Amino acid sequence: MSRNLYDLIGLAAGICFILALKGLSSPKSARKGNLIGALGATIATVIVFLYTNDAKALNNQTLILVAIGFGVLVGVPAARKVQMTEMPQLVALFNGVGGGAAALVALVEYLKLGDEATVAIVVATVFTVIVGCISFSGSIITFLKLQELMTTRPVVFPFGRQIIALTLIGILLSGGWVIASGGTTPLLINGLLSLIFGVLFVLPVGGADVPIVISLLNAFTGLTVAASGYVLQTTLLIIAGTLVGASGTILTKLMAEAMGRSLFGTLFGAFTAKPQQSSGEADTRPFKSGSADDVAILLNYAQRVVIVPGFGLAVAQAQHTVRELADLLSKKGVDVAYGIHPVAGRMPGHMNVLLAEANVPYEQLIEMEEINPTFPQTDVVLVVGANDVVNPAAKNTPGCPIYGMPILDVSLAVNVIFLKRSMRPGFAGIENKLLFEAKTTLLFGDAKDSLTKVVSSLKSL
Ligand code: NDP
Repeated sequence: MSRNLYDLIGLAAGICFILALKGLSSPKSARKGNLIGALGATIATVIVFLYTNDAKALNNQTLILVAIGFGVLVGVPAARKVQMTEMPQLVALFNGVGGGAAALVALVEYLKLGDEATVAIVVATVFTVIVGCISFSGSIITFLKLQELMTTRPVVFPFGRQIIALTLIGILLSGGWVIASGGTTPLLINGLLSLIFGVLFVLPVGGADVPIVISLLNAFTGLTVAASGYVLQTTLLIIAGTLVGASGTILTKLMAEAMGRSLFGTLFGAFTAKPQQSSGEADTRPFKSGSADDVAILLNYAQRVVIVPGFGLAVAQAQHTVRELADLLSKKGVDVAYGIHPVAGRMPGHMNVLLAEANVPYEQLIEMEEINPTFPQTDVVLVVGANDVVNPAAKNTPGCPIYGMPILDVSLAVNVIFLKRSMRPGFAGIENKLLFEAKTTLLFGDAKDSLTKVVSSLKSL
């Protein structure tokens, strides 16, 4: 394949990536967007094998095919088996491996070029190694946290800020050393310090903020890939890396805003936060629990019902049953809508994806800003496995971990029903006072089981 043809097909793959992002911006076109992106990635991979003209022609093709085969054997079953609730940690793992790979490729290319490397290439190599290594080790820690293989709480250690600052100075000095005098040893020291920095950077981030950090590290990986594209003189890598860097940055900003956080507060909050006070006393306040029949009666006589899905809906895989309930209520003349909080679940758009899987009409999915003013006219809010996103503490308890996060104002409705298994708090680990209010009824049990019972009870009314 000639250079011109290679570049032209590469450009087509780049266009596929841009169209993929466009498709992914709406639930309706997301599947198509995903397929277009996969097509672009396949084209980008295949043309590398077909290009035979100059020094860029591929050596060691058999070894590369073996590596691809190994990657497919590990990646495909992992992606197929993963539960929706475990998606963020899979993304973290894939992202970290991408950043690490880009750093390794840049390192190898740098060693190959030796004295021929220009200053610009050396600077790009140092950048790739630093950011790629931070992204790799940071993503591994986020994976361990989300998979609960280590504590999900912020890990704060004595002199943390000073140790981080010293590591950062070491990274800058060793990077400068590589640029000034070249050599493999300073670059390896630079990479090692960057790996350590990635770990130190993520350890103090608390569980609820980890997905924001994943998104930020994703943006880092994009920048690494773009810089490695410069080292390798490959336009397609620059395009793909820049797209990932830009979209990752936008996503990070949107997530931080949806959680009412500043990015600085998320990353460094643990170093400045005061420890949470706990009363240490067991909670003895009364609360009202009901049966599936009680819930069915409340719903049957309502004029307007809003369903608020959360992480527990995903755990219980109750999306099909909740749709069955909504359809049944609609048939009975009840006005039904779903109130969607932007960070309900564990990743952006989690609830939209789940409910789309159950073919819930998009028109029934109402965003937070739009549904909030309607709660005072709502007879029943059915909260299915959600907690933090409806917790009024975000509005009235300064200093609590979710203070400032916009919430769904379900407490303004006439009745609130919570479907959950216990009185345990949600992801942020804080009590929800709404559970103890007179207007609230709790239906304990797995969300899918509870919904199935409510549906059958409703059918008999
Ligand atoms: P929460 O984690 O606050 O609450 C989930 C609720 O589901 C719990 O009360 C739990 O109670 C219940 N539950 C769990 N399993 C089941 C089950 N099988 N059946 C019934 N109930 C169940 O979830 P929310 O969706 O309200 O909030 C999301 C949280 O995740 C927020 O803190 C948000 O900041 C955070 N987050 C989300 C991100 C995103 O992009 N979506 C990103 C970053 C953070 P019990 O154990 O008693 O059943």
